[in-house]
Amino acid sequence: MTPQPSDSLFETILSIAADAIVAVDEEQRIVLFNWGAEQTFQYAADEVLGKPLDILLPQRYAEPHRKHVRDFSASGENARRMNDRGEVTGRRKDGTEFPAEASIAKTVHEGRSVLAVFLRDVTTRKQAEARLAHLAYYDGLTGLPNRMLFADRLKQAMLEGIRREHPVAVLLMDIDRFRTFNDTLGHEAGDQLLRAAGQRLRLSTQESDTLARLGGDEFGIVLTGLRDEGGIGRAVRRILDSFAEPLSVEDQTLYVTVSIGVSVHPGDSVSAEGLIRNADAALSRARELGGNAFQFFKPEMYARTAKNLAMETDLRRSLERGDFVLHYQPQFDLGTGTIIGAEALVRWMHPQRGLVSPGEFIPLAEETGLIVPLGEQVLRTACAQAKAWHDGGLPPLPIAVNFSVRQFRHAAMVETVHRALEETGADPRWLDIELTESSIMKNPEAVIASLGELKRLGILVSVDDFGTGYSSLAHLKRFPIDVIKVDQSFVRNVTADANDAAIAAAIVTMAHTLGMRVIAEGVETEAQAAFLRARACDGAQGYLFSRPLPAVEFLKFVEEKNRQAG
Ligand code: C2E
Ligand code: CA
Ligand code: CA
Repeated sequence: MTPQPSDSLFETILSIAADAIVAVDEEQRIVLFNWGAEQTFQYAADEVLGKPLDILLPQRYAEPHRKHVRDFSASGENARRMNDRGEVTGRRKDGTEFPAEASIAKTVHEGRSVLAVFLRDVTTRKQAEARLAHLAYYDGLTGLPNRMLFADRLKQAMLEGIRREHPVAVLLMDIDRFRTFNDTLGHEAGDQLLRAAGQRLRLSTQESDTLARLGGDEFGIVLTGLRDEGGIGRAVRRILDSFAEPLSVEDQTLYVTVSIGVSVHPGDSVSAEGLIRNADAALSRARELGGNAFQFFKPEMYARTAKNLAMETDLRRSLERGDFVLHYQPQFDLGTGTIIGAEALVRWMHPQRGLVSPGEFIPLAEETGLIVPLGEQVLRTACAQAKAWHDGGLPPLPIAVNFSVRQFRHAAMVETVHRALEETGADPRWLDIELTESSIMKNPEAVIASLGELKRLGILVSVDDFGTGYSSLAHLKRFPIDVIKVDQSFVRNVTADANDAAIAAAIVTMAHTLGMRVIAEGVETEAQAAFLRARACDGAQGYLFSRPLPAVEFLKFVEEKNRQAG
């Protein structure tokens, strides 16, 4: 026989239960009030025993509640929740109310019917639920409204705008080069940057405007109460200018700019979705302009987007089919006139459009990430070509391959280069990787590390477009660089502009002290070549000597030169 718990055990357990247990007799007078009930209602048991159950409820619920209990007593049910959710409102001794979950049960004790009420204060859980509801509408990082609340507020603002005949402007914005900041400074600092940007935006908007974080580094603003486009333009300009002062993030001073796209209700769209979509198209355009800019939506913007989409599809297809070819532009020794290398320049053999130049598709390829597979194709083709020319008896010629930032930063970059060399059988000394000056200055530490790995493979490294990136030559000391390519913009004016002439000459002198060679790009006239030669510039490349040529023609060109040289 299992031992029966004693009455005193029941009592003990009853007394330690954290839930409130209250029993009432047939007249609904309290006959039992446990420790949990004392904690919950803040009455001592002897203050309430014999009192009506009503005192534990807000006055307004007393009557319905009494009826409820009466009905329940009269019903045949033994136990039942008070209502579907089992939620009631309790009242503490001091009059404060709290949400509670309750159930009620009926029993007969010593011939008299007793109702037991079990009740739990759920204030904490309710608070958690409210926090969750807040999370559903607010962004956890910045505390700003999120996309859902933004759309909601926009709809309200549109209704109000219609009533007051005011325009409503939707601004979408993102932080220029946020990904770079994030990658360079770390995610912790990236988060702080987002918070700081949010605060800066808050300061440059009115209390009545909704500022939201829509995700990533994208923010949105609903501007109300402005009379016309002029007013909107001024407000947007103010927001843009508010970033002229740097932000401080983890004790660092960061110069940050934003791009903003604007659409206006009702002119640009009468639906919230339409306004957001249009502002987004305007934002893309502002970004394309190089950032730190704003654009008002114009319907033509979609034509561009549609064009880009079509081109992206085209690019993908061509990548699979192998429609890309390389042209090679020879590089010359300015002293001896011999060919010292070649730059590989990609061309797109478009099935309908014919030969498309890189300026037209490289930016899109970078934006979409297609530059990574495209760059790999270019790299392999160049390596295979170098090997073929060498096997065909040409003296070894390094081939320069352009790498875009995205491609260079790709996690598997060094591995990709290594594999391309191995699988084509090309000698690493025949490969020269060109990186633009601006791209190596963006994240110097990481770039130095990656370049070191490339150098260990034995390949050459050139800095392209030098002179355009605002970096000093002294900076270059830390990079393992073989060649500096002076940008065409300086070369063009060396014979006309004393400043450009001085810059080009200084680049040559300083590069030589750092042990680097210098190649001038875009040399078109004999006068330019003469100037550069006089300043001891090592090499040159440009239309004066040769345009970029298809592989077959390049080979003929080199053989012809070699024959002339005897
Ligand atoms: P870049 O690297 O600065 O290449 C030099 C550009 O100047 C080439 O244009 C070349 O044809 C042109 N050029 C050469 N000599 C002269 C000259 O004497 N006068 C003038 N006015 N121009 C000259 P291209 O081939 O249209 O390439 C444009 C840009 O596209 C390149 O600029 C490079 O940034 C990019 N690019 C080309 N091929 C690739 C590639 O395979 N990968 C990547 N990531 N970018 C590439
Ligand atoms: Ca180049
Ligand atoms: Ca260049």
